[in-house]
Amino acid sequence: MTTHYQPAFSFELFPPKTTEGMEQLKQTVARLNAVRPLYFSCTYGAGGSTRERTFETVTWLREQGITTAPHLACIGSSEEEIRAIVQHYREQGVDRLVALRGDLPSGMGRLDSGTFRYANELVTFLRREFSDEFYIEVAAYPEFHPQAPSAMADLENFKRKVDAGANAAITQYFYNADAYFALLDSCAHLGINIPIIPGIMPITNYTQLARFSDACGAEIPRWIRRRLEYFGDDRDAIRAFGHDVVLDLCERLLEHEAPGLHFYTMNQAAPGLRLWADLGLTGYRL
Ligand code: FAD
Repeated sequence: MTTHYQPAFSFELFPPKTTEGMEQLKQTVARLNAVRPLYFSCTYGAGGSTRERTFETVTWLREQGITTAPHLACIGSSEEEIRAIVQHYREQGVDRLVALRGDLPSGMGRLDSGTFRYANELVTFLRREFSDEFYIEVAAYPEFHPQAPSAMADLENFKRKVDAGANAAITQYFYNADAYFALLDSCAHLGINIPIIPGIMPITNYTQLARFSDACGAEIPRWIRRRLEYFGDDRDAIRAFGHDVVLDLCERLLEHEAPGLHFYTMNQAAPGLRLWADLGLTGYRL
């Protein structure tokens, strides 16, 4: 890494459903915080489906003095609800948000209920109501959002979020670095010049990863899928192979001076810390 290159590292958590899950999350955060990431983010269920648990997790993180970026998914919510949530975060000293549309859980109504239809409308609202009080990150899709009618439409929609005032973007996870580099090229052509931070999903559980990937449109390349299938129930083999795959990906991204890495931790410390150590980031300070 060159001396001027200062990638920013962050960790994503989800709000646990149980008291035991919360205790485990606290231990995970303590271990991950030891490497001093720029911030932790915490997911939020669209339509307010995880609202209280997200609040609880964000409140605990803030009580520890940890820089926290709550996710905010707008679909199914009214302006008043979103305003109240953001004011609540502001009172806790939160100054970063990840602004999303979200997907309503089944049974929670239609995607066009509520005030907002798309994330760009949320970003516009946040800038109008809260000016520059928050550093706003949005989602980007190197392999394109599954509901986008075309690759170009998705890029134009991404540009709408940037034009509305997003400071940076975090990508959906991917295992094909070229998809990320192609996204950067397309953005450069469209005059988009905010940092686009790769989202990194460690590989620890093939069944779960395959399910997520089908839902969110992230491709697991065939050669990776076939090997993971072959390992069957051998979780150690899956973890070892998955670690090598994701380590290579992170190395390539950092060699190309990606602006940072955002790790989807799934509330586990070990996979991220192992990557951290093998990337030679131990002792790394922001
Ligand atoms: P948008 O940017 O609104 O895009 C959604 C779709 O609509 C795309 O296909 C886009 O091309 C299209 N579109 C956008 N604008 C327009 C327009 N004006 N006209 C027509 N079409 C348009 N989900 C959660 O529920 N909670 C979370 O905490 C959460 N965290 C996430 C974090 C990251 C980093 C990422 C990458 C995703 C996360 N998601 C989360 C998932 C996300 O909410 C879904 O992928 C959702 O389907 C799209 O959200 P978005 O913000 O990208 O939507």
